[in-house]
Amino acid sequence: MTAPIHDDHDQIPPPTLEEVSPGIHAYIQLDGSWGLNNSAFIVGRDAVTVIDTCFTEVRARNFREAIRAVTDLPLRTLVNTHSHGDHTHGNYLFPGATIVGHELTRQAMLEAGLPPGGGSGPGLFPNVEWGELEMAPPFVTFEERVNLYVDDLKIEATFVGPAHTSNDVIYWVPDRKLLFAGDLLFNGGTPFVIAGSVQGSLNALESIRALGAETIVPGHGEICGPEIIDEMVSYLRFLQESARKGFDAGLAPLELARQIDLGKYSEWHDTERLAGNIHRAYSEIQGEPLGVALDARSMIADMIEFNGGRPVRCVA
Ligand SMILES: [Zn+2]
Repeated sequence: MTAPIHDDHDQIPPPTLEEVSPGIHAYIQLDGSWGLNNSAFIVGRDAVTVIDTCFTEVRARNFREAIRAVTDLPLRTLVNTHSHGDHTHGNYLFPGATIVGHELTRQAMLEAGLPPGGGSGPGLFPNVEWGELEMAPPFVTFEERVNLYVDDLKIEATFVGPAHTSNDVIYWVPDRKLLFAGDLLFNGGTPFVIAGSVQGSLNALESIRALGAETIVPGHGEICGPEIIDEMVSYLRFLQESARKGFDAGLAPLELARQIDLGKYSEWHDTERLAGNIHRAYSEIQGEPLGVALDARSMIADMIEFNGGRPVRCVA
């Protein structure tokens, strides 16, 4: 077995459960860096609705146990915010549930496959202990929007991609002014748009802002309010402006990434995402369609190079 490159696994706090609204529990995995996502569940009268799962078998099993510590009711519905493995790898551990998601979420999961052989596993996360993962994509899919009900409580699922990925869906609970934003929002982390769109993310953030959410469960990091929207917008605009200058100066994405002074954004985790994000910004500057497929290998290679040739810090 390879020795872990990062030695701070022990400093990662255990996941926590927070009842963000009556019957609605958020499962928070700090520090919210690579692979440490948030998921959630809603306890109804006679069944549970789950929002996203986790990255590895162990983490997904721990999440399921956390649900079981709250309720014995059947886990009847599972919805996904997007295709990334930290939100979907654990889907298969909810075998009785109807798995709901965007049609493109299903497609992206099937195309990516599972680590260690598939997904973004081999290059980006060589040291993660995945466990025995099985493919379980959404099998009830939609294209624009769908409403789900937990008893009388309405949950509006709306497609807002391409943004963080090609297939982002937000889950809005209007009666509680509560939003599950998926990876449109990283609280304390760097936005990541290599598989999505910079401008698409900005557009999606404006639609999120218009909802008037009071409580937001971001895809990563602590529960927050709408103030976090401004932070994401500000980074993405900074990315667009920096990319415009770098593109005009003829700089390759990695060259530009090395020249950029991240300033306050350097305090966020996963700063190497900048090197990948610039590829996406360049694509949009050249007028390519938002969300067009780009070569993931070269973007990941640049992030690793930016990171001094080391894999990214993933303590999941
Ligand atoms: Zn993601």
